[in-house]
Amino acid sequence: MYKIWLISIILLFIMTGCGTKIILKPPVDDQTGATVEVNENGSDDDYEGDTEYLDIEDILEETTDDIGLDEKPVIPPSNQEVVESDIEGYHDLIVDLSNKQLDVDITDPRLSDLVKHLKTNTYNHTLKQIGKVTEPDHLYALVNKLNQLPESYIPSDLREPQIRFSFSGPDEKRNLRDAAATGLETMFEAADAASLQLFALSGYRSYNRQRDIYNNNVSTRGVEATDKVSARPGHSEHQSGLAMDITSESAGFNLVYAFGETEEGIWVRENAHLYGFIVRYGKDKTPITGYDYEPWHLRYIGLDLASYIFDHQITLEELYIHVEKAIHLQ
Ligand SMILES: [Zn+2]
Repeated sequence: MYKIWLISIILLFIMTGCGTKIILKPPVDDQTGATVEVNENGSDDDYEGDTEYLDIEDILEETTDDIGLDEKPVIPPSNQEVVESDIEGYHDLIVDLSNKQLDVDITDPRLSDLVKHLKTNTYNHTLKQIGKVTEPDHLYALVNKLNQLPESYIPSDLREPQIRFSFSGPDEKRNLRDAAATGLETMFEAADAASLQLFALSGYRSYNRQRDIYNNNVSTRGVEATDKVSARPGHSEHQSGLAMDITSESAGFNLVYAFGETEEGIWVRENAHLYGFIVRYGKDKTPITGYDYEPWHLRYIGLDLASYIFDHQITLEELYIHVEKAIHLQ
């Protein structure tokens, strides 16, 4: 009898007032169980799952954790007909770089292929529209919040690099495009030679998988909150097959800011460019990239651009905008 009373009082308490309290656990990758660190100021390209997100409402209603995505589809607003107010909210972290001065010399031989690429490919840098990536197979394809890969794009040369992973079992996210896979294999060998053990956690992610992740998040937390932590389908660099998230035992095999301060994270920051990679979402670059600092997210861009970007400590967005401006002034 005492137990029945206690349960009744607890239920009454929950239903009459404390239902607004939300308890958050760190986001957890839904396949590997790794923690993915996010904060409220930026968003995170690598936040995949929402299964550890505890909401007191779930106690009162059926939990959404176990409802299949197919049973409860939530369609995000179409990027094709997106209205300006939506864009403003979605991309409010991307600043207008067009009037900023930057010392980019397009006669640098490392930029010659990029100059060619940008003469035939147009990228969008304004908040008014979404650009479509016209040459998604190109090594220099720019994928970000303002430029979207086609829904149908699947890289044709995906393969699993022969490196250490933080999880076992088959998964599409083991894959990278061939050139990126080769670069990462060489980088891991060099890290091993320096007695540092890196672990790969998440590479290629299909459009459909990103869509499911995004929709799942929308169904549990709404569009606005989802856009702060999860890339929209077509906007994740992981779909390009050129991005890999890496971690270390010292970072608890998680995707956390602390990785950047571990021996492994420092080595990666200082050496990744030698293997064609950049740390894509740098510290203090959130207003430009729209993404939070991600010391674990590497983008393969080839030796030339990786070297140039490392030397100048700039983002891909800054480089592209200023090379485009320089081309127009020619
Ligand atoms: Zn990533």
